[in-house]
Amino acid sequence: MPILVQKFGGTSVRDAVCIRRVAKIAIDAQKNGYEVVVVVSAMGDTTDKLIELAREVTNKPDPREYDLLLSTGEQISIPLVAMAIHSLGAKAISQTGLQVGILTEDRHGKARITEVKTEKIKKCLSSGNIVVVAGFQGISEITGEITTLGRGGSDTTAMALAVALGAERCDIYTDVEGVFTTDPAIVRDASKLKKISYEEMLELASLGAQVLHPRSVEIAKNFNMPLRVRSSFKPQDEGTLVQGVDEMELSNPVSGVALDESQARIAIMGVPDKPGIAAIVFNSLAKKNISVDMIVQSTSHDGVNEIAFTVDKDTIDDAVPITQEIAKEIGANKVTTETSIAKVSIVGAGMIGRPGIAGTMFKALADSGVNIHMISTSEIKVSCVIDAKDGEKAVKAIHKVFELEKLAKETQKV
Ligand code: ADP
Ligand code: ASP
Ligand code: MG
Repeated sequence: MPILVQKFGGTSVRDAVCIRRVAKIAIDAQKNGYEVVVVVSAMGDTTDKLIELAREVTNKPDPREYDLLLSTGEQISIPLVAMAIHSLGAKAISQTGLQVGILTEDRHGKARITEVKTEKIKKCLSSGNIVVVAGFQGISEITGEITTLGRGGSDTTAMALAVALGAERCDIYTDVEGVFTTDPAIVRDASKLKKISYEEMLELASLGAQVLHPRSVEIAKNFNMPLRVRSSFKPQDEGTLVQGVDEMELSNPVSGVALDESQARIAIMGVPDKPGIAAIVFNSLAKKNISVDMIVQSTSHDGVNEIAFTVDKDTIDDAVPITQEIAKEIGANKVTTETSIAKVSIVGAGMIGRPGIAGTMFKALADSGVNIHMISTSEIKVSCVIDAKDGEKAVKAIHKVFELEKLAKETQKV
């Protein structure tokens, strides 16, 4: 029998009514001839509440204890979903990441899955169960300690399971009807995309579109796993299909706009202009496991320049002291930090070979009075760092200038 993996996010399991809805969707899939694996997130905003609880106790929670705490959210939702399935007359069994054998790197807070054991799930499936697996958690392949995969990581659990089990497809059920041209919570007339390529989806997710965890898209792309994003509140709607780029017709230069409010900007002023300085700065940050995103170096004046870069806000407490140390070492003047920034990006495989796309984006920002602090581009994206207060205004202006509200009507013919 073909295997189907279905993942349900926090809003889809926020209360008993929603949990029963999820149970019915899983049972319907089983009735349609699938062996079904369900991956669930913590109920509603449980994870946020657990984080708040930890913060009330300490500013610097121990990473092992923090992961153990956060993993409890999913441990509540899985038996509840299994019980709801039982109450509707079908067989189900819940499993934590530890019970299944979801192995990860030995790293807390943002571990990557390294291996998924399938024996136990297969055994449970073959005795007629719907298997309900806790998302977002695994165990260190070295120590056996509980790890978590980073916020939104249940999508990645689902995709890793789909690949390991050789599933026919992975359906990500959420609170919107698919992938839209931008966050529908910001732009009300954003268009739902019928399909989008893995490449574009990976960029959108990495650039802040919360709807899919970036690592889940990476796994789907690497293993060519068909993936649908759909609504648990309208399960009959087919949602958005995420697929390989060769199968797409690319008509529009821009497929989506993303907003990321999770980064901060660090600048080193008065940096001596000589070879090897950038290598010292970024290698030192990398050694401390701090990921740097955008980097801009100004042109040199009087033998000095400025190096500015962005990091995740949640690494800033580690990144700033290291940068200050490096600044001293290389003889730079000072380090400044700006946390009130946002990154707005456009993504589209159709922009390759079409000049003027970035210019159109910059003009839309200028016409709205939005100042650009940093710019970075790749083949299929353009990103600008702007003031945090301008984030939503910028998304609306860019969405409008590329007429993305019309995209649905043009592409829905397929
Ligand atoms: P879940 O709890 O189901 O994992 P998330 O909150 O992580 O759901 O992701 C769904 C949310 O992502 C939507 O409610 C929407 O506000 C947001 N979102 C951001 N960008 C997009 C986009 N381009 N398309 C659809 N949703 C988006
Ligand atoms: N519960 C986790 C979070 O809120 C994981 C997830 O929902 O995907 O981030
Ligand atoms: Mg999510």
